[in-house]
Parts: sequence; C-alpha cells; structure tokens
Amino acid sequence: MSASGKNVLIIGGGLAGLACAVRLHDQGARPWIFEAGDAPGGRVRTDVVEGFLLDRGFQVYLDAYPEAGVLLDKTSLDLRRFKSGALVYCGGRMRRVMDVFRDPRHLLESACAPVGSVSDKLRVALLKWRLSRTSIEEIAAHEDMTTEKYLQRAGFSSRMIDVFFRSFYGGIFLERELSTSSRMFEFTFKMFSQGSATLPARGMVEIPRQLSSRLPDGTIRPGARVVEIRAGGITLESGEQIAGDAVVVATDATAAARLMPATASAEPAWRSVSCLYFAADHSPLREAIIVLNGTGSGLVNNVCVPSDVSPDYAPPGQALISVSLLGMPEPADLEAQVLEELEAWFGSDVRKWRHLRTVRIERALPELESGVGLAGPGFRRHAGILICGDHLWSASIEGAIISGLRTADAVLHTSSITKRVP
Ligand SMILES: Cc1cc2nc3c(=O)[nH]c(=O)nc-3n(C[C@H](O)[C@H](O)[C@H](O)COP(=O)(O)OP(=O)(O)OC[C@H]3O[C@@H](n4cnc5c(N)ncnc54)[C@H](O)[C@@H]3O)c2cc1C
Repeated sequence: MSASGKNVLIIGGGLAGLACAVRLHDQGARPWIFEAGDAPGGRVRTDVVEGFLLDRGFQVYLDAYPEAGVLLDKTSLDLRRFKSGALVYCGGRMRRVMDVFRDPRHLLESACAPVGSVSDKLRVALLKWRLSRTSIEEIAAHEDMTTEKYLQRAGFSSRMIDVFFRSFYGGIFLERELSTSSRMFEFTFKMFSQGSATLPARGMVEIPRQLSSRLPDGTIRPGARVVEIRAGGITLESGEQIAGDAVVVATDATAAARLMPATASAEPAWRSVSCLYFAADHSPLREAIIVLNGTGSGLVNNVCVPSDVSPDYAPPGQALISVSLLGMPEPADLEAQVLEELEAWFGSDVRKWRHLRTVRIERALPELESGVGLAGPGFRRHAGILICGDHLWSASIEGAIISGLRTADAVLHTSSITKRVP
C-alpha cells in the first residue's frame, strides 16, 4: 500500500524514534516526533563545557554495526577509532593486551601480559574465528545463559575472567558480575572483532544530529512530554491533543511501561553509570586506547582520553579525560577518591587534573528479559500502538536503530490508514 500522507506520531526522539522517523519519511509517510527533553538524542547526547565535548556517559559507536552502518553516513560522522585492545592496570602497572591479528607488533607483549594464560589468549582467537563465521541470527538462536557461565564453559581461566572480561565487559554491560545474556556477549564480541570502537570526531551527539537533519523542518517537537496515548492520538502534558494515523512509543522501557500499563510490561531494572570528566594540560596516555581496572577493587572501571581519539573533544593544548564508574557511588569526596585511585595508575600528574563535570546516568542500560535479546521482531504491538526501543532488541545503538527501523516497516505495512493532519 502507499504510505503517502500517513501521519505517524512518534513519542520519543532517541535513536529508535529517529531511525523510525527517517525510514517513514524516506518511504513517503509523515512522521512527527514528540520529545520530552530539550533536544533529540535520548541517551546519546553531548554537552559543551568550556570548549570540551562531554558525552553524557562514555559510550562508543562500533563501526561493524550492520544496520546502523547502512542507515548512518559514517563518512560524514568522521569516525575516529580506538586501538583494538586495551591497557589493563593490574599488579601495580599497565599491561598491554592487543588484538594481535590487527597489530602483530604487540604479539609477544600481549601473549606475556599476566592477564590470563597463553591458552586464554588462544581461546580468544578461537572465539573470534568462530563468531566471525556465525551470523547475528544464529547468535540469537543460541542457548542463553549468563556471560560468566558462558566464559567458564568456553574454558577461560578465572584470572582471565576476573582481570580482563569483568572490566572490559563491565564497561559495556555496566555490571561486573557478567550476569548479562551470553547472546549479547557474543554479539558485542563479534562487533569488536569485525570492526573498531569509534567516536564521531565532534562527539556522540553527531549520530542523532545526522538522523535529525534528514527529517523535514518542524518534525521534531522538543519539550513535548506525552502523558496519554490511544490508537488514534496522544495528549501532551500541556493538555494539547493531537490526532494521527498511527502512534509509535519510542521511549525508554520505564517510560513505555508507564505510558502503556495495559501491556503488562514490568518496568525493567536498570544499570547505572557515572562518568567523571577531567581537564589536563596533557594526556596521561597519548594514544587512543581504553584503560581497564584489572585489580578487582576500587571505584574506577575504565578510563580513556577522548581528545586522543579526536582532538576536537578538547580545546587546543588541553586533554579531556573520561573516567567511568559503574553504578552511582555518591560519597561527598568522590572526585578526590577517584583522583587518589588514579594517581597509582598515572603518577602524580593526576593532582593537576581539573574536575569539569560528573555525569550520573541512573537509567543507562535496561536489563533485558531473558530470551528477548537479539531475538524476535524488535518491537511490540498493543491495541493498535507500536512500541520500540533498545529494550526490545539489544541495549545498544544498533539495537535501538534496528528496533526503530522494523517498527517503521510495520507501520508502513499496516493497512486501513486514513489521512489526518496533527
Ligand atoms: C552511559 C551509556 C553508555 C552506553 N554505551 C553504549 C555503547 O558504548 N555502545 C552502544 O551501542 N550503546 C551504548 N549505550 C546504549 C545506547 O545509547 C542506547 O541503547 C540507545 O541510545 C537507546 O536509544 P532509544 O531510542 O531506545 O532510547 P532513549 O535514548 O532512551 O530515547 C527515548 C526518548 O524518549 C523520550 N521520552 C521518554 N518519555 C517521554 C514522554 N512521555 N514523552 C515524550 N518523550 C519521552 C526521552 O526523553 C528520550 O529522548 C549506552 C548508553 C548509556 C546511557
């Protein structure tokens, strides 16, 4: 059927809502986004503070994401890569663990690093080879278990799990217990193996900004919180009522459960993260690499220097340091405690770092119901309303975009549409 003129009301201007709107617009429908916040982007935003670009929590775009890669113009995002591997702080020093298939210069150093045994490193290579031959659809059909159990079953030593996987995947899953679905582990491991972790040169916000720029002027209405929805329309907090041909809920999982209690979706548990930003007159690393806490104790999980990845993240002659802590620890002297911890990692220069901002994100990643991750259509339908978001495919940029695109396709293939103007 023709989608021409179909007015689709989308609640939420995160990546799922934006991807949905872009696909609808490209197919001739007319999307309208109602966003509660002051700008689109949802959990992918960047603030400018004293000329530094502060992403709202450290996050990366994996350039192997298949569907996001087709939707986004990666060239204009000007993606800057992290090195494939990490520095792991353990035993009082930094140990380098690199992907030796991409950077064989580090073969000896990586093989000898006391971060797991040589057979652990061979197991990593084997897993990389096996997952490179496994499609995402096949991963979605794999038996689901916790990542910890999966790694144990795969034969990794407890040292490798504790020193490397807990901190590396702790920074991705925002939990160190490795209780996240093994399918999600396989998916992210495959993405890291096939591509690189990247940052857009001008901050993560460039991703939603690019999607927003593909929509007609006036499509996105910021500051418009939706308080009620029905199959043919919505009500804003201001009391304004708007009618449309289709309604899509593209909020986070908690907001969706509150807007649509009848779907009986429980509000999910959330994983939280805190990110402390510091300015320095030089980088403690001078390379685009992620540093992990392999000690098993302390507040810090991972550190990087975004301005080493893209100089635009800091004003000329300065460096931006990003420090991630899992959860939301709230001691009054948090910055001082973090700096004291990092002095052991980077030396006394840390005392000269200047605290710029602490970003605390309570609802960073939803815990996915077992069996939901990567499987199913990526959206839900209830009483004529479609629901999408990262909680319905995978808690990631790729997951949000896939969910939004599939929801748009479902809207476009729904008949019995009448034309109304909001
Ligand atoms: C700190 C952090 C680190 C991350 N790291 C990575 C990473 O490295 N790689 C990766 O791929 N992913 C990462 N993610 C996950 C990724 O950012 C999210 O999965 C994705 O952005 C979610 O998009 P979404 O559109 O589903 O939801 P959201 O971004 O939450 O968008 C929902 C939107 O709905 C709006 N809204 C809510 N209620 C209403 C209402 N009643 N009316 C109107 N609007 C409403 C909200 O304001 C929001 O803009 C990270 C997330 C965080 C927070």
